[in-house]
Amino acid sequence: MEYNSFFETALERLRDERRYRVFADLERIAGRYPHAVWHSPKGERNIVMWCSNDYLGMGQHPKVVGAMVETATRVGTGAGGTRNIAGNNHSLIQLEHELADLHGKEAALVFTSGYVSNQTGIATIAKLIPNCLILSDALNHNSMIEGIRQSGIEYKVFRHNDAAHLEELLKANPNRPTLIVCESLYSMDGDVAPLEKFCDLAEKYGAMTYVDEVHAVGMYGPRGGGIAERDGVMHRVDILEGTLAKAFGCLGGYIAGSAKMVDAVRSYAPGFIFTTALPPAICSAATAAIKHLKSSRWERERHQDRAARVKAILTAAGLPVIASDTHIVPVFVGDPERCKQACDILLEEFNIYIQPINYPTVPKGTERLRITPSPYHDDGLIDALADALVQVWDRLGLPLQAKAAAAE
Ligand code: PLP
Repeated sequence: MEYNSFFETALERLRDERRYRVFADLERIAGRYPHAVWHSPKGERNIVMWCSNDYLGMGQHPKVVGAMVETATRVGTGAGGTRNIAGNNHSLIQLEHELADLHGKEAALVFTSGYVSNQTGIATIAKLIPNCLILSDALNHNSMIEGIRQSGIEYKVFRHNDAAHLEELLKANPNRPTLIVCESLYSMDGDVAPLEKFCDLAEKYGAMTYVDEVHAVGMYGPRGGGIAERDGVMHRVDILEGTLAKAFGCLGGYIAGSAKMVDAVRSYAPGFIFTTALPPAICSAATAAIKHLKSSRWERERHQDRAARVKAILTAAGLPVIASDTHIVPVFVGDPERCKQACDILLEEFNIYIQPINYPTVPKGTERLRITPSPYHDDGLIDALADALVQVWDRLGLPLQAKAAAAE
C-alpha cells in the first residue's frame, strides 16, 4: 500500500482548487507590534502584520508578559496533567473568577482553546438537556458546528442573523427545550448579531441562549465584556463563550454562566476532562490582560479609531471594502488565485503581511483580504497599506471603485 499517495492526492486536490495554504514563517518583536520579522526563503525581512487576531496587541503588553514570566518563574511551566489527575492550579481558579466577574455570571470554566470550549461545551450542554433542539445561525464557526454534530442532537439552522426566521423555528417547535447558538460578531464579514432580539425571543419561547463572543471580548462593552455587554443584554444571555487567544493575547477558551451549568460541563465534558489544563503562566497572563482591559478604555477606543481610519482611507482609494460596523476590515477579491497572488505581492514587494481568506473559511467567490487594524497601526502604516493595495489591485487587474463615488 502506498499510503503517502492518498495524502498526495488529497493535497493535489487543494492545489487544483487553488486553496492549498502556505503560512509565512514569522517572528513578532515584543514592544514593536505590529512590526515582525519574516524568515523568508531569502533571509530575514522586517514586515508589518495586518491580519493578526491579537487585536489589541495585548500579547506584548508589559503587564501580560510580566505576569507570564513571573508565574512561570515561581511555579514552573506545565499544569502537570488534567484537572482530574493533577487538581486545579491556583492561577486557573483566579482566571475563572476574573472571567465570571467580567461577564457578571456565577461561574466560568476554562478550556485549552476557544475551539474546544465550543466543541465540547455545546455538545455537553445539549446532551444534558432532555429532548433538546438546537437552533444554530447559518454562519456559525466550525467549532460550534462540530459541537452540534458531536452532541448528536436534532438541530435546525436559521438564516444568518435573521430573528424572524429564528422565531419561525421556535414557533414550529413549541414546548421543547431549545438551545439557540450564535456568535455575537462574525469575524469574516465583521457584522453583529441582533442579540437583544434573540434574547427577547429566547424569553418569549423559553429557550436558552449560547453566544460565542470570541471576536468581541476585550474589545466591546465598557469593561471588555463583549457585544452583549455593549448592548446591555449580557445578563440575559445564558451562556457566554470566549477566547483568551485574541484580544487577551494568550491562549485558551471559556464558557461563563450559571454555577450549576458550569459544574455540569466540568463534570461531563470530555474535552475538559481528558486533556491537560492550561499552564499556570498562561492563566496569569490572561488574567492580567482581562484585568487591564476591564479598566483601561484606551485600547478599545484607539482600536475603533484605527479601524475607522483604515476603512475610510481604503474606501477613498477606491478599494472594495466590505461595509462593517466593527473592527474587521474585509476587502473583496472574489477569486482564490488572485487573492493569494495579492498577498504574495504584498509580502514580497511591500513587506506587508495579510493572509488570504479563501474557501472553506468563506464561501467560494467571496475570497478576500481580511485586515485587522490594531491600536498600534499608525497613520503612516495605514497610508502605506492603501498605496500598496492600490498598486496590487492595478497589477492584478482587480476592479477599483470610482474614487468620487467611494468618498461619498
Ligand atoms: N469561535 C469563533 C467564532 C472563532 O472564529 C474561533 C477561532 O478563530 C474560535 C471560536 C476558536 O477560538 P480559539 O482560537 O481560541 O480556539
